[in-house]
Amino acid sequence: MLGFGSIGQGVLPLLLRHIEMQPAQILIVKPSAKGLEAANALGVPHLIAPVSCDNLRDVLDPHLGSGDFLLNLSVDVCSVDLIRLCQERDALYLDTCIEPWPGAYTDASRPPAQRTNYALREQALALRGRGRHPSTAVLTHGANPGMVSYLVKQALCDMAAQTGLAPPVAPTTRRGWAELARQLDVRVIHIAERDTQVGAERKQPGEFVNTWSADGFASEGRQPAELGWGTHERHFPPDGARHEQGSRAALYLNRPGAATRVRSWTPLAGAIQGYLITHGESISIADHLTLGDPANPVYRPTVHYAYHPCDDAVLSVHEMAGQNWQMQPRQRILKDDIVQGMDELGVLLMGPSRGAYWYGSQLTIEQARALCPGNSATSLQVTAPVMAGVVWAMRNPRRDVVEPDDLPHEEMLEMILPYLGPVVGVASSWTPLDDRDWPFREDLDREDPWQFKNFRIT
Ligand code: NAD
Repeated sequence: MLGFGSIGQGVLPLLLRHIEMQPAQILIVKPSAKGLEAANALGVPHLIAPVSCDNLRDVLDPHLGSGDFLLNLSVDVCSVDLIRLCQERDALYLDTCIEPWPGAYTDASRPPAQRTNYALREQALALRGRGRHPSTAVLTHGANPGMVSYLVKQALCDMAAQTGLAPPVAPTTRRGWAELARQLDVRVIHIAERDTQVGAERKQPGEFVNTWSADGFASEGRQPAELGWGTHERHFPPDGARHEQGSRAALYLNRPGAATRVRSWTPLAGAIQGYLITHGESISIADHLTLGDPANPVYRPTVHYAYHPCDDAVLSVHEMAGQNWQMQPRQRILKDDIVQGMDELGVLLMGPSRGAYWYGSQLTIEQARALCPGNSATSLQVTAPVMAGVVWAMRNPRRDVVEPDDLPHEEMLEMILPYLGPVVGVASSWTPLDDRDWPFREDLDREDPWQFKNFRIT
């Protein structure tokens, strides 16, 4: 296990619960001895080493052989270089985010297009097809990106059943899923999340507080905003830009995601304003649901994240923006000190024929702790899919580089659902045009509620 932060600590008990192995078969590699209490208590050994571009092979080579598994739960270590190493060593691999080496997300000397998750995904997918029986490397298999790709497929099946369109069995091909989404006239998919968890001690000035990696959230928040771009869109964003190469499924905005807010909706919170933070699933889901020539598609939904993090993280982003996006000197991840709250995380599928349908997890902190120690609601929604992805890769060791969208959604959900608390599907008549034009007139497309222009706030 490379990295042992909020996700590493939360997944360790799940791995030991679901995979037959001894703690001594695991090795944790991380840069400092801080935060190893849970591993020490379980008898899991560690190696203290900050992995860098210069020492990657020296540190990892001695520990990585055929049939081993590199579970990458670190920040600031390049996923693409790690996958290359695993392919050479015939080892399995899984991460929850395609990470670059430090500084690449915010290197202003590089064009914004090169700082996108689109570019990172293209680099990772280019590693496909090397060797005759390539070992499995699972990309971006957390909650989102990760599990949400399965939630979208389940939501499509639910909507089809409610409409009487139900196929006798769920589609099994990429094209089949895209055709089902088009039949249901799904125009927009949000990953709509409202985290209401609160810690005992509120955020202090000069502190970045979050319910998962503060570094990770600050990094992705400062990347350009990115979204899968649907075929129904008729107002290209004035600050938007397309990519010249690759899947063509997404575009980016010339501004940080943490400075880009959108309207969205979750069942318990109701209407919310979320950050349009770039995420791998915005690109992969849009890509997988594309019909026709990718450069000039017949059908594709708009797909993006609408993230309302916990209240202290909202304050942290606000303070960081005030410092012109320089991160606060201190960081704190809320976990054992959370006193109340829930992570309401799901997918919101929207279109003219069926309105809005949210499908996802409403997991409280109390439920998360009862289901697996060492977790918050946020981390358990990530660590259950990590565990499921590891199990799947071990069952399927020769599948090359895969994304969540390539994996069997029912088999994956079967492993993940027991850890999500209440999982609900809720239909809604909400649209981004509700209650608008008050107290000021707004520039809206009143003929089509599902235009990105109507969702976007800043
Ligand atoms: P964290 O900040 O709590 O922990 C990061 C870990 O990486 C720490 O143990 C740190 O010591 C280690 N690390 C940092 N630099 C390193 C280096 N040079 N070499 C080795 N280890 C190094 O982060 P987290 O919340 O545990 O998140 C881990 C990863 O999971 C991040 O990439 C994050 O973006 C991702 N994540 C994905 C999802 C999802 O749903 N897909 C959700 C949460 C987090």
